[in-house]
Amino acid sequence: MDYSYDQWAQLMPIYDQSKKRKKIQEDDAYGPKIRHPSHLCLNGALFDKEKDKKTPTRYAQMYRDILLRYPRSQFRSLEEEKVGFKVFQISRWLLKHNPEYKEHYRGSTSHIKNKVSHVENRVKRYLDNLESWGLIGVQKREVKPNGLSTPLYGFSPLGAIIIWAMEYRDNPSKRETAKHQIYLWIQRMFHKSNSIMYEFIAKTYQKFMEYDKKHEPGFFDTIITNLIRAIEDDKLQFNNAIQYLSHAFDLVLRGAKTRVKAHELYREALDEFSEDDRKTIMYIEKDIIENEFTVNQPPRSWTKAWVENRMNHDKLVLYAVCEKNYSHRFPIVVNYYDYRKFKSLSPYRYLEAKTACLECHDNVQTRIYDSLDIPSQDSE
Ligand SMILES: [Zn+2]
Repeated sequence: MDYSYDQWAQLMPIYDQSKKRKKIQEDDAYGPKIRHPSHLCLNGALFDKEKDKKTPTRYAQMYRDILLRYPRSQFRSLEEEKVGFKVFQISRWLLKHNPEYKEHYRGSTSHIKNKVSHVENRVKRYLDNLESWGLIGVQKREVKPNGLSTPLYGFSPLGAIIIWAMEYRDNPSKRETAKHQIYLWIQRMFHKSNSIMYEFIAKTYQKFMEYDKKHEPGFFDTIITNLIRAIEDDKLQFNNAIQYLSHAFDLVLRGAKTRVKAHELYREALDEFSEDDRKTIMYIEKDIIENEFTVNQPPRSWTKAWVENRMNHDKLVLYAVCEKNYSHRFPIVVNYYDYRKFKSLSPYRYLEAKTACLECHDNVQTRIYDSLDIPSQDSE
């Protein structure tokens, strides 16, 4: 997963035009013939709207009805968290709750089993898509005496997070519950792995939540609203659903209203680790930041300073530009904590600092960049 907090210059999400969503074919089917559009990706699928820009499309409605069964039938869900749910159960739920199916079978005297058998194959295809997006997974298979097996599905932590985000958006009375559940699932997701960076991220979320509870109600909500916005944005397409969460987290760390506090909490989280772990985290961060230079053929002066500081986990080798004369450029070593702090304060792409210019032979105002992507004087 890419948690490069440091691409702050790219405040706007990158839209990959080559992956533009294919135009969704009109689905003429009615009732049980709601076809699954196989080429849809997550954001389009859940929040796609009709031309009126308000009504969800049929398939968006179908996906949402499948997912919302989870928060809206809490008791069953708790049981199912252990054993999983079957296509049959989801189908029954859809027959009762999906507007098109309800309308189609209005007044029908057909037995529920018959109705389910009509819709099951389609429901299965919708579930296949949800599985490919990482929202659900087959937990186990129930093998019958005749040898046929029935898959039992379960939600992934990420699936649960997305579902609760939808509930947060659509159901104001459940907002607090949804927020709490999102927090719990994030913690579960990151604690399951034994990666130190995941632990660090989990700890940072924990700090955000504590601060929200004690000092600024709504602070944690900014992550959720960013997440919802990212999933709704049909221009924003990530291959992997976890990148939506990463993107939402990034926006809080960089957002004008949240970044100063986010930085403080980030720092607090870091300081709670043992010295060895803290060093490891900083080494990884240093690596990500300096990698912006190393992959872009940096000048010799920079590589020299970089080699000299290889073993200093708390030192970053960046690049400074003299404000008196833009052609005066030189590597500069910055303390990791200072870098984080000033970055959260700086409204610019660069950090401002007073330091000795090697060519002016004087202390001058400089701009410190954390990549070699330095604009020419005219463009700033
Ligand atoms: Zn100078």
